Amino acid sequence: MNFHILTLFPEMVLNGLNTSIIGRAVNAGRLSIDAVNIRDYAFNKHQSVDDYPYGGGAGMLMQAEPVYLAYEAVAEKIRARSGEQTKPRVVYLSPQGSVFNQNMARELALEEDLILLCGHYEGIDERVLEEIVTDYVSIGDYVLTGGELPAMVMVDAISRMVPGVLHNDVSAEFESFQDNLLEYPQYSRPEEWHGKKVPPVLLSGHHANIEKWRREQSILRTRERRPDLLEKCELTEKEKQWLQDLEQETEK
Ligand code: SAM
Repeated sequence: MNFHILTLFPEMVLNGLNTSIIGRAVNAGRLSIDAVNIRDYAFNKHQSVDDYPYGGGAGMLMQAEPVYLAYEAVAEKIRARSGEQTKPRVVYLSPQGSVFNQNMARELALEEDLILLCGHYEGIDERVLEEIVTDYVSIGDYVLTGGELPAMVMVDAISRMVPGVLHNDVSAEFESFQDNLLEYPQYSRPEEWHGKKVPPVLLSGHHANIEKWRREQSILRTRERRPDLLEKCELTEKEKQWLQDLEQETEK
């Protein structure tokens, strides 16, 4: 998968993404991460990319033309490589977008090329957004100074869904948000630490019992920490009954 990040701070995103699992996947050729400096497309005397917003108001706005030219340069590269004329998918990182989640990461990981557009200052001139953006994505209901950290969050989460990026692809299959459940608690050696013992079922070697215990723990954990997710989760009739019994017991 090829990520193309349009930004005013390419070194920030590249430095943040060249370590550990993502860095190794890039070195192994499973991913490519290209950061394009929008300032390189500011063809004016001072290489400026921002200006005052019409109508007044605080702050500066990124201008349409350098953003458009940076986008065109990347889109042209993609077209030349693929031989196709289709418009690439362009995500504008924005607090006004749909809030990013694991399903979006899974879906975006199917793209061969993904352009991530990072805003700065008060954002970007609306006209270029209308022309090039296909998706508006936020990483949460708060305002950051730029789209670089959100782009890094997205690249990390999407990359984990790309086959071969994690050593063990199974680890991406059974983790939090799979089926709208949070992951069960996990333990490693030693068997006892600070007087706390590893749950005996995990030492039993009985795979069916271990799976049952893990599923129950996932349900309990989701009920406690993210009840909003549990409402969207598909539970069996037996599990629903089990939860109802638990509710009644706690009410007593
Ligand atoms: N004036 C904009 C508004 O109120 O919607 C906010 C601009 S923000 C200070 C500057 C840039 O940071 C945005 O253009 C966007 O790229 C990025 N950004 C800020 N918060 C974000 C969030 N929660 N998710 C994704 N991107 C964000």
